[in-house]
Amino acid sequence: MDEGRRKGFATRAIHGARTPRIEQETPSVPIFQTSTFRFETAEEYAETISFRRPGYTYTRDGNPTLRAFELLMADLEETESAYSFASGMAAIHTVLTTLAAAGDRIVASTELYGGTYSLMANVLPRYSIEVSFVNPHDVDAVAAALAGAKLFYVETIANPNVTVSDLEALGGLCREAGVSAVVDNTFASPYLCNPVAFGFSHVIHSATKYIGGHHDLIGGVVCTTGEGMEALRSTVIETGGTMAPLEAWLCMRGLATLPLRMERHGSTAQALAELLEAHPKVERVHYPGLASHPQHEVAERLLPKGFGGMLAFEVAGGVEAGMRFCDALELAWVAASLGGIHTLVGHAASTTHRQMDPAARRAAGIGDGLIRVSVGLEDPEDLLDDFGRALEKA
Ligand SMILES: *Cc1c(COP(=O)(O)O)cnc(C)c1O
Repeated sequence: MDEGRRKGFATRAIHGARTPRIEQETPSVPIFQTSTFRFETAEEYAETISFRRPGYTYTRDGNPTLRAFELLMADLEETESAYSFASGMAAIHTVLTTLAAAGDRIVASTELYGGTYSLMANVLPRYSIEVSFVNPHDVDAVAAALAGAKLFYVETIANPNVTVSDLEALGGLCREAGVSAVVDNTFASPYLCNPVAFGFSHVIHSATKYIGGHHDLIGGVVCTTGEGMEALRSTVIETGGTMAPLEAWLCMRGLATLPLRMERHGSTAQALAELLEAHPKVERVHYPGLASHPQHEVAERLLPKGFGGMLAFEVAGGVEAGMRFCDALELAWVAASLGGIHTLVGHAASTTHRQMDPAARRAAGIGDGLIRVSVGLEDPEDLLDDFGRALEKA
């Protein structure tokens, strides 16, 4: 630059702000709130954009704050790499459309997050990807469905009945059949379960939930290993569902307290599940920490550090009593989402699972009066009081 004449106000306002180069570390990773990165030479730009040289080109293709979050996630999930996304659904869509193409068949669990079910039942068939839904607890049915399939998709702990899939058995079946094994590990979080240990090549999270943990962001992440990595990166870049730098920063901030949060979510959920199970106005409680849970033993093996913060229950009196119960709560909120500091409740059939037709819903064991609870981090006594009071009014 010409040093002789002082640049004009606009030029100085634009070029005056520089990233300080410092040698010290900070406990908080800087937020690189930038869309682009400068190169010293045109050749350096050409080399970097082709991934022949380390560096960053454009935030949709990569950003240091995203990278820090991705490396942290890969470490916590015990995978080689991770990619971050604008939402859990963007992550799921990218994995499915990277691994499967027109003419392929996917095998998926019948027990799925509503949005994932809708993507598989309504969107993928438009692109000639066929989906067979199978009961993940019926090992023989899964083995039969896997023949000739491209990938298998399951949730570690599934919406809304908080069932637990035997990832060890399912991963083994996929290995024998030569089928890619994909798991949505959102409800467990990387603290309670690392599915790569069981042969799963793609571990997906809605980072909106326990990873963020504070109901203040939308995000997704895929942790992967081996051959899948390059293919996934290229779909991420071309489809554009990239996470924003601030969200990646919030996710790292959330992960720092994940173990403490998961332990508290789990201990309060256990106490609440026991209170509900003993209550005369409750017909049924679904929580993997209860001996009455159908996969309690699978859960003890798969989730040795705790059973998580999600539970569901059926209030006697069906839909109306369930709605009255929700309306009578004062501390717990009626709201979408899960995995954060506030306790949230919702009626499954009319909300999270509305996209499923009633027959599919019944096949997945979702009762009409089922209430799903994401147990937050409030004082356990206050929460138990709130649920007890609301049950009296239900
Ligand atoms: C919320 C959720 C998703 C979707 O994630 P978004 O971040 O809302 O797009 C997928 N799977 C499970 C199990 C979820 O709870």
